[in-house]
Amino acid sequence: MNMSEPTQFSATGLRGELRFDEPMRRHTSWRAGGAAQRVYQAADMDDLQHFLHSLPVDEPLIALGLGSNLLVRDGGVRGTVLLMHGALGELSLQEDGSIYAQAGVPGAKLARFAALHGCRGAEFFAGIPGTMGGMLAMNAGCYGGETWQHVSRVQVVTRRGELLERTPQEYEIGYRSVILRSKWKVESGKRESSDSPLPTLHSLEEFFVGAWLRFEAGDGGVARQEIKSLLSRRISSQPLNLPNAGSVFRNPPGDFAARLIEQCGLKGRQIGGAQVSEKHANFIVNIGDATAADIENLINEVRATVAAQTGVDLHPEVKIMGEYAKHE
Ligand SMILES: Cc1cc2nc3c(=O)[nH]c(=O)nc-3n(C[C@H](O)[C@H](O)[C@H](O)COP(=O)(O)OP(=O)(O)OC[C@H]3O[C@@H](n4cnc5c(N)ncnc54)[C@H](O)[C@@H]3O)c2cc1C
Repeated sequence: MNMSEPTQFSATGLRGELRFDEPMRRHTSWRAGGAAQRVYQAADMDDLQHFLHSLPVDEPLIALGLGSNLLVRDGGVRGTVLLMHGALGELSLQEDGSIYAQAGVPGAKLARFAALHGCRGAEFFAGIPGTMGGMLAMNAGCYGGETWQHVSRVQVVTRRGELLERTPQEYEIGYRSVILRSKWKVESGKRESSDSPLPTLHSLEEFFVGAWLRFEAGDGGVARQEIKSLLSRRISSQPLNLPNAGSVFRNPPGDFAARLIEQCGLKGRQIGGAQVSEKHANFIVNIGDATAADIENLINEVRATVAAQTGVDLHPEVKIMGEYAKHE
């Protein structure tokens, strides 16, 4: 492995790849943004556990899938980014009929695997260009399907490298939102009982590394047809020829963000290399060398314009992280 830099990251026996000052535009679908101080691509689950165990306890950590829902600011991110895609790729049919998918498995691969094994209901995953880990973190969904409708158990790794299994009941699951209940309790200053030790936030920090999913039995051929038609619907309605991060804003209750943005005349609005897509108003596309600041400024402008003209406050669905560039 490449270990030419800081000694506190040079634990022995690691088999993955550690890179320093890594441009995050290589790892995000918007193809924009600054660098991460460190990225680690584990060789496999054991290696990831070993790496996490070797880290300083206060090392800032972020898990990353395919970066298809993420804007990293131009000043980059401090700490270490864990690259799950390419590392945790196991996908298997279990004896009880469930499907086990590790965090790095792409949605399209999961959909095709489920169809191949006579499952129905997994087709929607084909339209989501993210990983199992990112889909769990976001409760990603489309065409009436949502990730957590199919989860029977998840596997997580803590920042100290321990593997745990959790049930869906341990999470507060909503529209594009998943929060570990015990973390929520700590953050809001509550605790289970007066004699249970109050965990620290660090001890609760953990990342999805796998999930067991359940689907109905059905005709795999029909599922494959459904995947095809779903993908062609996407090609005709989304600007997939330009870098983007899918829907920028959540749909407000009973309405569509795209409809509101279009109504405000914002289609085609441009800041630097970022543009509100002419094809789908809830997409922002990178039409050239957009900086993360161009994209974030456009997000803010769209939000302010929609609020002023319609009274609806749109909330971003994309995650924005990192530091502003020094000159911003
Ligand atoms: C063209 C296009 C179409 C899209 N269509 C849809 C759609 O129909 N429905 C939909 O819901 N989304 C859609 N998206 C958004 C995106 O694909 C989903 O949100 C997806 O779940 C993100 O997965 P990812 O692996 O790329 O996550 P990333 O973008 O890498 O990360 C997203 C968030 O999840 C966290 N995360 C990632 N992996 C883990 C992990 N293993 N453990 C804990 N946290 C983790 C990250 O820290 C980050 O906060 C679309 C995006 C694009 C570009």
